[in-house]
Amino acid sequence: MLGPPGAGKGTQAVRLSEQLGVPHISTGDILREAVAQDTELGRQAKGYMDAGELVPDELVIAIARERLDREDCAAGFVLDGFPRTVPQAEALDEAMRALGREPLRVLNLEVGEQEMLRRLSGRRMCRGCDGIFHVDQEGVEADSPCPECGGQLYQRTDDQPEAVRERLAVYQRQTEPLIQYYSDRGLLTNISGEGALGEIQERVRSAAQN
Ligand code: AMP
Repeated sequence: MLGPPGAGKGTQAVRLSEQLGVPHISTGDILREAVAQDTELGRQAKGYMDAGELVPDELVIAIARERLDREDCAAGFVLDGFPRTVPQAEALDEAMRALGREPLRVLNLEVGEQEMLRRLSGRRMCRGCDGIFHVDQEGVEADSPCPECGGQLYQRTDDQPEAVRERLAVYQRQTEPLIQYYSDRGLLTNISGEGALGEIQERVRSAAQN
């Protein structure tokens, strides 16, 4: 799942993985978990993440390789937030070949800049269930419990305005070239990420399965 920050990759990737019955693999979630647990990986990644920069390729590639190698990925997987650079995409191609997998399907979620900023600035995450919410949703306010599990909601450090600006610049510089990379290989489907959640979900499902 490709797209700029705030495109809805996480939300749609979780739904798609549930529909397909395959794991949802988010390098961002894996890294945030490592930071929360204060592991060696977490300590190495934290500074980059808080500033809205990318964690170095070799760290992220090692995480993705290890995860894709696990048994539960045998029937497929939904990748969210990886690859984010051309070297990562090349490493993923190599891993897919080594694992004897079918070529990827790349779904590129497109949203306008205004909508992206609205989503990021109002986004709230749950510490309990990793759910993703927005302050415009009913029942989601500062300090309110998670509407799904009652857990604690928080704002990601990198959803603060300064880091958001950096993430957008990083996206344009390092990740946007992947659109051309996958389009050249005939693997890319562009999907509008604007509109009602259910409609976007349907577009994603049909692009993934056709
Ligand atoms: P995300 O939850 O996908 O927005 O990721 C949050 C942060 O984790 C990013 O801003 C990066 O600092 C880091 N990160 C996640 N995935 C990658 C990746 N594939 N390459 C480099 N950094 C990543």
